[in-house]
Amino acid sequence: MKCLLFVSLFFLMGLGFSCQSPPKNEMADLVFLNGFIWTVNPQEPEAEALAIKGNRILKVGSNAEMKSATGSSTKVMDLEGALVLPGFSDAHTHFLDGGFSLSRVQLREAKTPDEFIARIAGKAKELGEGSWILNGNWDHQQFDPPELPKKEWIDPVTPDNPVCVNRLDGHMVLVNSAALKIAGIEKHTPPPEGGEILKDPRTGELTGILKDAAMDLVTAHIPEPTFEEKIDALEAALKHANRFGVTSIHDMSYASHFDVYRELLNRKKLTARMYVYIPISAIGLLAGPQKKDFPRSDFLRIAGLKGFADGALGSSTALFFEPYTDDPSKRGLFAADMFPEGIMEKRLMEAEEAGLQVAVHAIGDKANHVILDLFEKVMEKKGERDRRWRIEHAQHIIPEDFERFGKLNLIASVQPYHAIDDGRWAEDKIGRERCRFTYAYRSLSENGALLACGSDWTVAPLDPLTGIFAAVSRRTLDGKNPNGWIPEEKIALEEAIKGYTWNPAFAEFAESVKGSLEEGKWADVVILDQNLFQIPPEKILDTKVIMTVLDGEIVYKNE
Ligand SMILES: [Zn+2]
Repeated sequence: MKCLLFVSLFFLMGLGFSCQSPPKNEMADLVFLNGFIWTVNPQEPEAEALAIKGNRILKVGSNAEMKSATGSSTKVMDLEGALVLPGFSDAHTHFLDGGFSLSRVQLREAKTPDEFIARIAGKAKELGEGSWILNGNWDHQQFDPPELPKKEWIDPVTPDNPVCVNRLDGHMVLVNSAALKIAGIEKHTPPPEGGEILKDPRTGELTGILKDAAMDLVTAHIPEPTFEEKIDALEAALKHANRFGVTSIHDMSYASHFDVYRELLNRKKLTARMYVYIPISAIGLLAGPQKKDFPRSDFLRIAGLKGFADGALGSSTALFFEPYTDDPSKRGLFAADMFPEGIMEKRLMEAEEAGLQVAVHAIGDKANHVILDLFEKVMEKKGERDRRWRIEHAQHIIPEDFERFGKLNLIASVQPYHAIDDGRWAEDKIGRERCRFTYAYRSLSENGALLACGSDWTVAPLDPLTGIFAAVSRRTLDGKNPNGWIPEEKIALEEAIKGYTWNPAFAEFAESVKGSLEEGKWADVVILDQNLFQIPPEKILDTKVIMTVLDGEIVYKNE
């Protein structure tokens, strides 16, 4: 039961929230005893017991201290030494897409072209004639040799199904002949700015691979799922998130998704707190005369604007100063949000004038440099403000740019899993020397960037524990770097946990109500079956979530 008294005490104030301690003589609804509680509160980092009243944390302390809050109706649970952390927050997801991907063709595990083809053939049979085969999240780096898939592989098994399956980074797709036909793409179709249409260098024929802005030529023809299909996908995504202990989501999204989240909120089924970014090109929805009113609640808020500066490393579209090592003819591409020239600066200035938060995707070192320049320009012109502007990925940085993150008070929104995934082949793409300052979490943090960690789901698994493992071990997925790939950039376990709890809360102006286990904060809690502080890093991957609590309610229990 929710405590009305508490609800009346806590109210939204401006951008942030207010947090007050509940009355001392309250009895708890739920008490956890005998735990190892890592609070992420530097004043009181460890505790043994935790009490919850309504949707708030009533007490954090010793077993004995819980006695005064334990009444006849209090439920008491013995944790038997289990680890308790603040509910995890994922600072970068594509959440609704993720929900859809759960029921679509799964190509991430396809290790050979034959398996890739077989999985698509299986999906075509399952869906029947005419249906689109989508998502996939394939990774050609797993093939031996790592060649890009081509439409000829899948045309014979998909004569009646258009196919548009993406690489796991979302920066290129493979489409089949049926999809090319629907989109009207032919050999001589010019690629749009910020995009690429791949052709066989010998024959000049289309290969079926489309990169970045060129993907839109096909995706524009994919029928929009119905509202109820979106609701179903969102419910699946939320269940998936709660299983991994995730209670807060930053979603790199669209205004239309907000309406889906709102509907589920109304149905009282939104089991994670959503913080939703919309594309920077849609700035008119948040600033100016056409501004739309997005209602806000403790579970759902519009965050601000997300833009793109470039593409991704695996697709060779991340923008670098120097050419790619494996293809000296390429340095990457500016993303469509950078065209026409000057538009990003104009929109950043508009966002600043409207007091908005912005988050810009920048992967290559040049893309990061250019965005740092633009952020700096806006901030110099407009002066001090609590902006909490973010660079998404902040993946490859030239050494002299690190300190600018601290100087500009930026949030580096990073996804540690990418380091152990891309670390298998990043040196082939950009060479050993450039990799030294790649996925450089320690350098970023030591230079004053706040690390807000996330998954980038569906690009990587939505599991903060794999991210924490990646951040502290940097052991690449191929097992080739047992001491860590670029071990100088490992971060400590405490910092990795903070990266998935308090830091993302700060990145969404909500550190006063969540991100740590403190009296008066929202009761968002995760309980794990192993104490991460007492096990070697590889064991982190075997750790299971026992329970996820959101707003004082149990939303997942491992039974
Ligand atoms: Zn992303």
